Amino acid sequence: MTDNGYKPELKDALRALRLPVFASEHSALSAMAANEGWTFDRFLLELCQLELVQREQHRRQKLLTASRLPRAKTLLQFDRQRLKRSADQQFAALREGDFLARSENVLVFGPPGSGKTHLLCALGHELIGEGKSVLFSSCVLLVQRLLLAKSELWLERELKRLDKFEALIIDDLGYVQQSREEMEVLFTLLAHRYERRSVLLTSNLVFSEWERIFKDPLTTAAAIDRLVHHSVILELNLPSYRMEAAQQQQSKNNGNGQAAGAADLIEN
Ligand code: ADP
Ligand code: MG
Repeated sequence: MTDNGYKPELKDALRALRLPVFASEHSALSAMAANEGWTFDRFLLELCQLELVQREQHRRQKLLTASRLPRAKTLLQFDRQRLKRSADQQFAALREGDFLARSENVLVFGPPGSGKTHLLCALGHELIGEGKSVLFSSCVLLVQRLLLAKSELWLERELKRLDKFEALIIDDLGYVQQSREEMEVLFTLLAHRYERRSVLLTSNLVFSEWERIFKDPLTTAAAIDRLVHHSVILELNLPSYRMEAAQQQQSKNNGNGQAAGAADLIEN
């Protein structure tokens, strides 16, 4: 048999070994190897590296799809210059992702429009870049899902499913007034993840207002205690980005730098 006669068998073997890049690239690469006078080792190494690159890309793609992160809210779209120096330094440390192995939490506070959601989404994208698993959800939707799981008696299973994500981003805690039952499942989730997995959350409400979320002082204290114990707290005491953008637009339109009127109506 000529060397070419092995091709069908080789294809089958590579498929069985789940090496699709070997299968698609080995012919082209062996021609290159012959041209360049590569050793067998070099040829094999080049193929392995191509296969690894593609595996990594697939993994990142899968992590991104599973994360439900808004695609546009990346670091590239985020103006870090707006952050105070200390917040920017905290962000720089967080994007390495080491805090996940320590099950530390990230709590982001600030007024509406200050960039809390975008900041955590950008962090989520960076963490996926580091190969970490992330899930983004609004607090309201997450609570609805947990309630449904509870009523169907599979809350424990749902909590275990969430354990698969190293970072759980809960967006807008306390934005909508929720019932006691809704808050109970949220507390169950926070207690379950405590010292097990990281929670990253945003809230417009400072801790002193959290009794409005958790309804009674004991649950509120217990929730704050668990969240804060191992945590990084980022305070974005910044004006609304949307408001600033509207004001800049308006002063451009006026041509005289006087921003007024419409911008004030945009933000509450
Ligand atoms: P919050 O969650 O604090 O209410 P968002 O993160 O939703 O605020 O930000 C409001 C809007 O302003 C979004 O469209 C967001 O992309 C944008 N934004 C906020 N901060 C920045 C920033 N530093 N750089 C770029 N865009 C920003
Ligand atoms: Mg938000």
